[in-house]
Amino acid sequence: MHLNEGRQKSRSLRRLERRTPKGRVVVHYIQKNPSKARCAGCGKVLHGVSRTHSNKLSKLSKSERGPSRPHSGQLCSFCSRNAIINKYRNLFSLSKK
Ligand SMILES: [Zn+2]
Repeated sequence: MHLNEGRQKSRSLRRLERRTPKGRVVVHYIQKNPSKARCAGCGKVLHGVSRTHSNKLSKLSKSERGPSRPHSGQLCSFCSRNAIINKYRNLFSLSKK
């Protein structure tokens, strides 16, 4: 028996029981996936945004990472549409004065 390291005692890592070729069962400690991205405006779960860590994003294909429009990963499509409309409304009203 060996002493467990502090990081292995913590539940911040996901545990996977894997059988080795020899038949021994070992525990693999794996980084947990972050929670689903939510809209900053209305709090809805964002569709199409990957749940992987940013250090693993390069392994995904471009379409698996998420939408490529402005405010993607921050606002849902409805809120980002409103944000863009409000931005240009404000610009227009300022230039009229
Ligand atoms: Zn929203």
